[in-house]
Amino acid sequence: MARIAVIDYDKCNPNKCGHFLCERVCPVNRMGGEAIIIDEENYRPIIQEASCTGCGICVHKCPFNAITIVNLPEQLDEDCVHRYGINGFVLYRLPVVKEGMVVGILGPNGTGKTTAVKILSGQLLPNLCGDNDSWDNVIKAFRGNELQTYFERLKNKEIRPVVKPQYVDLIPKAVRGKVRDLLRKADESGRFDEVVKELELENVLDRDIRHLSGGELQRVAIAAALLRNAEFYFFDEPSSYLDIRQRLRIAKIIRKLAESGKNVLAVEHDLAILDYMSDIIHVVYGKPGAYGIFSQPKSTRNGINEFLRGYLRDENVRFRPYEINFSKKSERKSQEGEILVEYPPLVKDYGSFRLEAEGGELYIGEVVGIVGPNGIGKTTFVKMLAGVEKPTEGEIDWSLTVSYKPQYIKTDYEGTVYELLSKIDAGKLMSSFYKSELLNPLGIPELYDKNVNDLSGGELQRVAITACLLRDADLYLLDEPSAHLDVEQRLAVSKAIRSLMAKNEKTALIVEHDVMMVDYLSDRLIVFEGQPGRFGKASKPMGMREGMNRFLASVGVTFRRDPDTGRPRANKEGSVKDREQKERGEYYYT
Ligand code: ADP
Ligand code: ADP
Ligand code: SF4
Ligand code: SF4
Repeated sequence: MARIAVIDYDKCNPNKCGHFLCERVCPVNRMGGEAIIIDEENYRPIIQEASCTGCGICVHKCPFNAITIVNLPEQLDEDCVHRYGINGFVLYRLPVVKEGMVVGILGPNGTGKTTAVKILSGQLLPNLCGDNDSWDNVIKAFRGNELQTYFERLKNKEIRPVVKPQYVDLIPKAVRGKVRDLLRKADESGRFDEVVKELELENVLDRDIRHLSGGELQRVAIAAALLRNAEFYFFDEPSSYLDIRQRLRIAKIIRKLAESGKNVLAVEHDLAILDYMSDIIHVVYGKPGAYGIFSQPKSTRNGINEFLRGYLRDENVRFRPYEINFSKKSERKSQEGEILVEYPPLVKDYGSFRLEAEGGELYIGEVVGIVGPNGIGKTTFVKMLAGVEKPTEGEIDWSLTVSYKPQYIKTDYEGTVYELLSKIDAGKLMSSFYKSELLNPLGIPELYDKNVNDLSGGELQRVAITACLLRDADLYLLDEPSAHLDVEQRLAVSKAIRSLMAKNEKTALIVEHDVMMVDYLSDRLIVFEGQPGRFGKASKPMGMREGMNRFLASVGVTFRRDPDTGRPRANKEGSVKDREQKERGEYYYT
């Protein structure tokens, strides 16, 4: 076994642990050895892997969980691609890049996906876990591997990479001006009109980048990438902020790009979309922040199923102690439970936008999924239920308190995560119930000392969800809680919401576009249809089967369940299954 010791220096704080506690407790050091030495210049500890025995004492003693020690098979050493310095994150292996194919990447945040892409796009020269300083050595290291030719071409500047970044919310900070000008500048392929039409951007061309919604920014960023003339395209989370129709649409567009002979790599956490888009996939596993290993390429179906099982068969590696399963849960009986609120048919007319909602009821303890496009009146509906917005027709003579997590999270909070959350409810942060049901599953205590302004998109999302669920309210509304979260985090959030609603006897409405998450999370569904920005119709809350059928019929896509894992899989349009299911009107749950 080879040992790696990783220290997260963002968490390490020698002044607060009683001055290098790890060094003082290390048995090797106590015997006069030097497993841990102090880097006086940077005032931080360094673990010397050659002297460390792997006893794990420092790992348990460090009050900030800053140290990770792992033993990995010795033969992995040969596949070590990059290490961010002594005691830094280690990346093993890289994904393949194949002309004419979409190669999907599936794995937790913090396991090196972006690092791999930086290497493949030539932005980062991998040090081969030593002191490598040339691309020639990289080419040598990959001799006999499919990537050898790729790196040769990259070195000779024959390959030009284009990257659609993960956090589209940051684009307005870096780019100014009108959408039209931005896309014109990117247009090296002369496909401006075609791409604008495909991504339905006609109406925003004359808008300033600063005034776009998240979904619009996402489509502009994808369009800008498509318009370039490149050989290698990388799409980092192309689905965030898009509704399901738009997700399927961009999946098709990305496929078409590959079919035109390009190399395409995509990281995607919406499993239905990853499945729909990819020809092959790599699973990335490891320990977030410490190390990541790219699996062998796998067929898409098999790779996703192995990922859910937590076991890679070819590699004989179990990387998660439990399986993720989507076995059918029993549908809620509609008369069950105590009613939170019963509402009459409601209309809201803003002049330019009109919403009509069927009357219905919400139960205490249930989670209701809300599905439908962006801009269709979902927020308006909840505001009426809460008594914040007065309906044009229909009467609401109650007021419910609502805790709301918006789709786009803005931060101008100066302070740490702990300060932010303790202001909402310091008592709940101490409660063992909230620790076990919400805080620990979402990994919040590890973020306490971080400044809210320094959080990554995924960290900010988890903090915003926590903040929403810590508030006392009758009704919780969370808009797209899955954005920027990896699959395990999506499931952890789903479980936390379900459990808090059931145990606290509250009700949640969740707007969600990831079909897997909708399926996992919801007891019932409200389906919104209509024309975004013009008019919307909201159904009453329906059973999952009826709701999914109605919703998927309006999008025109059929889903089936994977027989092994029970996960929802989108049928390819026009396939035998797709046609059969459409004929029977069964868009889901066959
Ligand atoms: P992913 O894309 O899978 O979320 P990344 O490749 O962005 O993962 O990062 C993997 C890990 O590498 C991070 O958790 C971080 O600890 C480390 N890392 C990333 N960039 C740097 C850097 N420039 N210097 C040191 N460590 C880094
Ligand atoms: P969703 O939550 O489904 O994205 P919203 O309920 O936020 O949709 O908005 C639906 C439509 O109503 C949008 O076109 C929006 O511009 C419009 N709208 C929302 N609030 C107002 C308002 N106070 N005045 C006028 N139009 C509004
Ligand atoms: Fe202290 Fe932990 Fe840093 Fe060691 S790693 S110096 S124990 S904070
Ligand atoms: Fe020392 Fe044990 Fe930590 Fe290694 S794992 S540095 S031997 S305390």
